[in-house]
Amino acid sequence: MAKAQETILEIDLKALQHNFEFLKSKLSTNTKFLAVVKAFAYGSDAIEVAKYLQDLNVNYFAVAYTYEGVALRNAGITTPILVLHPQPNSFDTIIERCLEPSLYSHRVLDLFIACAEQHKQSNYPIHLKFNTGLNRLGFAEENISQIIDRLSKTESIKVRSLFSHLAESEELIDTDFTLKQIEHFTNSYKKIYKALNYQPFLHLCNTSGIINYPEAHFDMVRSGIGLYGFGNDPKVNQYLKPIASLKTIISQIHTIKKGESLGYNRGFIATQETKTATLPIGHADGIKRQYGNGNGFVTINNQKASILGNVCMDMIMVDVTNINCQEGDEVIVFDQNHTAETLAENVNSISYELLTAISQRVKRVFRR
Ligand SMILES: *Cc1c(COP(=O)(O)O)cnc(C)c1O
Repeated sequence: MAKAQETILEIDLKALQHNFEFLKSKLSTNTKFLAVVKAFAYGSDAIEVAKYLQDLNVNYFAVAYTYEGVALRNAGITTPILVLHPQPNSFDTIIERCLEPSLYSHRVLDLFIACAEQHKQSNYPIHLKFNTGLNRLGFAEENISQIIDRLSKTESIKVRSLFSHLAESEELIDTDFTLKQIEHFTNSYKKIYKALNYQPFLHLCNTSGIINYPEAHFDMVRSGIGLYGFGNDPKVNQYLKPIASLKTIISQIHTIKKGESLGYNRGFIATQETKTATLPIGHADGIKRQYGNGNGFVTINNQKASILGNVCMDMIMVDVTNINCQEGDEVIVFDQNHTAETLAENVNSISYELLTAISQRVKRVFRR
């Protein structure tokens, strides 16, 4: 790969394939695989990632919001797309673009049925979400009789799947809570199976669930972060490859004297002569201000350069006093060796947050 000549997010699609195959190797052959491509495929590029995975015969996609699903349809994605958190004002669009809503309360179920009837649909696929302990979105087990009653009065929709979401699937020490969630989910789906004359398919596990709870894979699993190369556990990370590398270059080098300041609000004052490099990446690109003042770092010619002073909108300045470097040299913010997870840990954050924050301003470059 040529060296970066501007700020780029390099996306390694071979690494994506590697991660997909690794995760699939954890499943039995008839378990379906849903790829979570919400939030621009965790800050990478939802369209390129979805096209690549569609060619690898992934079974389903999920996005959070309707317009994310519309973008995939506009790009020619034909694989089923589950919309995890649609708002009722987008239900018409859901039906027009053949997206499949997650319905999680009587309110949204009723509104969706009304919409499907208005569009003269029959057996439109929907997914029912159950709350088994996360207390975020989902029906309660007590809601089941009312759900069944509602379903029995319409031909417009058909339940394609039943699902729930785990709260701490990465937790290995105390698994009680997750086992309780699995039990709640099992009780709920059995009640529904009894009441319906067909069996919607079942799914519960996210990436860490795939690894840690093989007994709970059910009919499909939903993976996001694992596809992008992180497993929430060093033992899992060693088998995965981060797909995204954030690279930039040195725009200018300054030598500032003892007592001189650097950047806005004079956030850094040199206590000795300091060589600084100014880089064309800032908080508008996704490097949050928390990374400033020595909390974050980049890698230049294999050496760590910490961020000095305040992060600007379009730039950061880093300490290169002891680094042999020149203007125009490549800078690694994160890659497969200096991972986003390690960088995020410096500010008490997680890989998910750093990756999804990389803004649309940063050019995406694909490696196939
Ligand atoms: C985001 C999300 C996932 C993906 O979780 P990962 O930990 O990234 O694998 C799965 N299911 C639901 C409901 C989600 O919102």
